[in-house]
Amino acid sequence: AGTAGRRYRLGVLDGDGIGPEIVPAAMRVVDAALRAAGAPGVAWVPLPFGRAAIDEFGTPVPDVTLTTLAELDGWVLGPHDSASYPEPHRSRLTPGGAIRRHFDLFANIRPARAFEGARAIVAGTDLVVVRENTEGFYADRNTRAGTGEFMPTADVAIAHGIVTRPGVARVAHTAFDLARRRRNRVTIVHKANVLRLTSGLFRDVCREVAEDYPDVAVDDYHIDAMTVHLLRRADEFDVIVTENMFGDILSDLTAEIAGSLGIAGSLNASHERAMAQAAHGAAPDIAGRGIANPAAVMLSGAMLLDWLGARHGDDPLRRAAHLAVAGVERTICDGTATPDLGGMAGTGEFADAVVAVISRLH
Ligand code: ATP
Ligand code: MG
Repeated sequence: AGTAGRRYRLGVLDGDGIGPEIVPAAMRVVDAALRAAGAPGVAWVPLPFGRAAIDEFGTPVPDVTLTTLAELDGWVLGPHDSASYPEPHRSRLTPGGAIRRHFDLFANIRPARAFEGARAIVAGTDLVVVRENTEGFYADRNTRAGTGEFMPTADVAIAHGIVTRPGVARVAHTAFDLARRRRNRVTIVHKANVLRLTSGLFRDVCREVAEDYPDVAVDDYHIDAMTVHLLRRADEFDVIVTENMFGDILSDLTAEIAGSLGIAGSLNASHERAMAQAAHGAAPDIAGRGIANPAAVMLSGAMLLDWLGARHGDDPLRRAAHLAVAGVERTICDGTATPDLGGMAGTGEFADAVVAVISRLH
């Protein structure tokens, strides 16, 4: 039972570097996919973020951005180049991290699918890494509880890792719910043989949650063994759930195994909200030249549509998500690509091609 036919309001935060080029390209694709799926268009709400917001508001994440986002269904976040910010902004939490933490977006969802015609390391790869986003050794950057790192003397550095039962349970539910919409398999990745308490708790809570999903097959691997299994047979995995640092590393590996780190999309989600964000950065070296590849943010936008569709039981939205992905895939496969993929298309030209493909697909 859902709210199909509703008109969603989505924030759009262009960000730095190539952001103002690739984010509007992704909006065009989302619009085209919704149209093709017969769904109502979204209302886009542009919000200040990043370097431009520092100049205008004195901070990369102004209060008006946070209060407006709180009222929206989701948003598309462009990349940020916080290394280029003036102090004190450079040494603070990155602006993307600040938004993630403010809204407690605890699950980072990173699909790795070998596109037709892509040079995948393992052909047929079609998996999703669900990474816990607030705990583990990265807790200081993200979490409510965060203890972070410290140096008791100039020669000793210490980092804490935090794992909590509720923190693991919620991300495990995200993974198992997702598996039910895919191929009904979840793989838990941990290092419980060494990190007996922390990684052990992660594995055990995931196993407990699995009992609520008798229809979903579950197995678990140590992180080191998992890298080997992925290189040899990534095509056999469906949903992989893991803690923060392992997920950071594994999701880059899986994207590349699928042949596509450069075009990897991702979604950061809580139960209430989702934020589409490409896996790549602001690429300042090519900004302003009209050659940036918008595929990753397009695919992230498609993930946002799929998430909204699942959350609201809104099938046309999920159909639109599918059309957007298929449009990007077919366009690249047909030989229209930006220079990073060896093609000659500009950002706008690539977006034009994807929009045209989508209008022919449905
Ligand atoms: P961050 O610290 O923000 O993750 P990074 O150091 O990983 O940034 P990126 O900004 O992702 O760096 O850029 C890495 C390289 O990939 C650069 O040479 C950049 O031009 C290229 N690149 C990244 N994204 C794109 C894109 N969408 N289209 C084309 N090239 C890109
Ligand atoms: Mg990077």
